[in-house]
Amino acid sequence: MVAHELDLFIIGAGSGGVRAARIASEHGARVAIAEEYRVGGTCAIRGCVPKKLLVYASRFSDDFADAAGYGWTVPTPSFDWSHLIANKDREIARLELAYTTALERAKVQLIAERAVLEDANSVRLLSSDKRVRAGRILIATGAAPALGAHIPGIEHAISSNEAFGLPALPERILIQGGGYIAVEFAGIFAGLGSEVTLVYRGKTILRGFDDDVRAHLTSEMERRGIRIITGHTVSAIEQMAAGYTSRLSDGTSVATDRVMFATGRRPNVKGLGLETVGVRLGKSGGVAVDEYSQTSVGNIYAVGDVTDRVNLTPVAISDGHAFADSVFGGAPRPVDHINVPTAVFSEPEVGVVGLTETQALERLAKVDIYKTTFRPMKATLAGRDTRTFMKLVVDGTSDRVVGAHIVGAEAAEMIQLLAVAVKMGATKADLDATMAVHPTGAEELVTMREKAIGYVRKAAE
Ligand SMILES: Cc1cc2nc3c(=O)[nH]c(=O)nc-3n(C[C@H](O)[C@H](O)[C@H](O)COP(=O)(O)OP(=O)(O)OC[C@H]3O[C@@H](n4cnc5c(N)ncnc54)[C@H](O)[C@@H]3O)c2cc1C
Repeated sequence: MVAHELDLFIIGAGSGGVRAARIASEHGARVAIAEEYRVGGTCAIRGCVPKKLLVYASRFSDDFADAAGYGWTVPTPSFDWSHLIANKDREIARLELAYTTALERAKVQLIAERAVLEDANSVRLLSSDKRVRAGRILIATGAAPALGAHIPGIEHAISSNEAFGLPALPERILIQGGGYIAVEFAGIFAGLGSEVTLVYRGKTILRGFDDDVRAHLTSEMERRGIRIITGHTVSAIEQMAAGYTSRLSDGTSVATDRVMFATGRRPNVKGLGLETVGVRLGKSGGVAVDEYSQTSVGNIYAVGDVTDRVNLTPVAISDGHAFADSVFGGAPRPVDHINVPTAVFSEPEVGVVGLTETQALERLAKVDIYKTTFRPMKATLAGRDTRTFMKLVVDGTSDRVVGAHIVGAEAAEMIQLLAVAVKMGATKADLDATMAVHPTGAEELVTMREKAIGYVRKAAE
C-alpha cells in the first residue's frame, strides 16, 4: 500500500469543508484544506451573513416610518451605502479570521490556493505546482452564480457576488430572477431606497414554495412598491450614457442604473479534474453521491452545494460532519435531508418546513389545510398596510403536521422552532393542546381551529 502524506485532503474551505476538516481532525485524521478565495466560503463571505446584514440595514426605513404612529418624531433619516459596506466588510474579515483560527486550532493545514484532482489519491496545487497525496479526498467546492443563456450585453449584469460590493447604492435596479436570492435583494434595495424592478420568466416568484406563499409574498412586495414583471426575461442589456437599458422579451425596455441577474447557481465542478479521475456527475450537474456523500470513486467524497442536493449552509455543515463521523469517527451515518426548514429573508420574511399543499396532495390520501391571514399588531398604530400569512398542511389520516408555511415578520425565527415539532412528528392536536403566548404573531400557529380545506383522494374514500 502507498503511504499518503495525509488522511484527508479537502478542496474548498466553505461551510461543508471547514466542518468536515475540524471533525475529521478531532477524530485523529491528518487533514489539509485548500481554499482559492477566502476562508469561510460563500455563506460567510458573499452569501447568508453579508446578505442578512444588508437585510437588517434595509429594514430601518420601515422602522423610522412606523415610529411616528408610536409617538416618535424622527428627523428625516439619511443613508450612507459606503458606511454600511465598510462595516459589513469589517465583520466579514473578522469572521474569516475566526474560521482560519478555528482550523489552526484544530491542527488542520490550510493551503491558500486552487486545488484540482490529479488521480484518485492525489491533488495538484495549481499555484505552487505541488502534488499532495491523501487517503481520502473531499470535494467541497460549493457553487457559483449562473447567469443563464448568453444575451447581448450580459457582461453588464452583476450577480450577488458584485452586489455586496457596489461602489454606490443604485437609484434604480433591475433584478432578473424569481428565486430566494432575487427576492431578497429586491427587498434589500427597495428598503434602502432604490426603485426596484423584478423580472421573472415564470408565472409566479419562488418556484418550489407553496402556492399561497408565492401569491402572498408577491402582493406584499408589490404593496411595497417593487415592480414585478413575470412571464418575461431580459433579452439584451445596453450600456447608456448613464446606466443601462434592459430589453425584455415582450419588446419593452426598462432603464436602470444597475442590472443584476440572480438566475440560479451552478455547482463548482469545472476544471476540477473529475472526468480524469472518473467522478460521475448527477443530472443537475452536481457531483453524484450516495447517502454517505461517497462519489462513484470509493475514496472520494463530496458535500454541500457542489452535490446540488439541498443548497443551504446548515445542510452543507451537517453533510460535512456526517462524512467525518462516518469515515474517520467509526460511526457511519447517512445525512438526513428530510424536513429541512428554510427561510427567505424577503420583506416580509418567509419561513417554511415540510410539504407544500401540492406535494401533500401528491403523496397523501387525506390532506387538511389550515390557514390564516391577519394584520400584525405592530402594523396597527404604525398604520402600515401589511398582512401576515400562516398555513399548516396536515396529514388527514394521521393528523401529523407535514408542512408549515409563514410569511410575515420573524417568520424565520418562528419556523426554526416549529421545525422541531414537525421533525418530532407533532400532530395538529399537539399544536391545539399547546397554550398560546399572547399577544404574539406566533400564537396563531396554535390557535387555527377552522379547517380551510379537507381533501380526500377518491380511492381513499
Ligand atoms: C447570496 C446568497 C445568500 C445565501 N443565503 C443563505 C441563507 O440565508 N441561508 C442558507 O442556509 N444558505 C444561504 N446561501 C447558500 C449557502 O451560502 C451555501 O449553501 C453554502 O455556502 C454551501 O456551502 P459549501 O461548503 O457547499 O460551499 P461554499 O460555502 O460555497 O464553499 C466552497 C469553497 O470552495 C472554494 N473553492 C472552489 N473551488 C476550489 C478549488 N478548486 N480549490 C480551492 N478552493 C476552491 C470556494 O472559493 C469556496 O470558498 C446563500 C447563498 C448566496 C449566494
